[in-house]
Amino acid sequence: DPDEILKNRTHREIVTEARQKLSRHVNNNNANDYYFMKILGEGSFSTVFLCHEIPSNGMYAVKVMTKDTIRREKKLAHVMREKDIMASLTHNFGGHPFIIKLRCAFQDDRRLYFVIKVARYGELYDLLRELNTFDDYTTFFYASEIVAALNFIHRCRIVHRDLKPENILINDNWHILISDFGSAKIVGNKEQEALESEEYETRKAQIQSRGSFVGTAQYAAPEVLSSKCASYEADFWALGAIVYQMLAGCAPFRAPNEYHIMRRVMNLEYEMPENFSPVTKDLIQKLLVIDPMKRLGSLEMGGTLAVRDHPYFNDVDWENIAYRRTPDLM
Ligand code: ATP
Repeated sequence: DPDEILKNRTHREIVTEARQKLSRHVNNNNANDYYFMKILGEGSFSTVFLCHEIPSNGMYAVKVMTKDTIRREKKLAHVMREKDIMASLTHNFGGHPFIIKLRCAFQDDRRLYFVIKVARYGELYDLLRELNTFDDYTTFFYASEIVAALNFIHRCRIVHRDLKPENILINDNWHILISDFGSAKIVGNKEQEALESEEYETRKAQIQSRGSFVGTAQYAAPEVLSSKCASYEADFWALGAIVYQMLAGCAPFRAPNEYHIMRRVMNLEYEMPENFSPVTKDLIQKLLVIDPMKRLGSLEMGGTLAVRDHPYFNDVDWENIAYRRTPDLM
């Protein structure tokens, strides 16, 4: 039973093992093994390329970061955390079909490279923008895939903390691949918590002095915006905001700038569209709850199992979720 195995291993042990598995690749690969074909996307300090891995003849996404930029932007801890968490999620219990997989990582004098599974259809965000809204089945399909992925991520004692349509990628079979673990947190990791409490003080000072929140507040739970102790429940708040957006075509908390979005989040100021079905409204209302302990998905409210038991997900066969009819999107 995977849960039994987890109980007996510390997170440090799990990460060390994942790192060892990864290091087999680390020593072998270098940039000359890849033919860089085109840019798939750009982050604030990285560029992601579609690449042909010549020795294996496979196609991968390669995230390239220059060491100078990482140093200048003070992103080393962020990048290392992303690599460790991706490695851990790739190797724990053989990984999960709805979570991005890290194939290998390597570096040269100037750059760091993460070789990851390619998501052929890009971001859920772009798909949604193209279609404006999703129909009921498509929303149900993606909402339940997100729940299945969160169940796995949380079992690995990780909180994503930045779940949003931009970080949910779509693979070649139209299933999701959750990505961007740079803001994720390993629950119970004292070193990270100490570091973050310093980061939190800086961020609080920034909010107070400039009146602006750094990041995107649209899917961030109130405790992510206002305190340092966000845990698993934060990902369920994001789920509520994403389900709302898939059906309505816009996020529940909207305002001209991040600061005002943040105020709306803190005051739970949003309107529920009349055309949402009663069961959908009930799900969203139970997820968008200010008090994390009273939010559906919190340990106090029965954890991920309680989310899976919500009537909205009645028709999901959780064991075979990766083999369902995919929505008709093309
Ligand atoms: P930031 O660092 O600013 O938060 P980010 O985390 O989205 O941005 P990257 O992880 O570098 O930055 O990703 C940049 C873009 O590349 C993404 O928005 C996505 O569109 C694309 N991308 C990332 N990974 C993949 C992948 N595995 N397959 C296809 N496209 C990808």
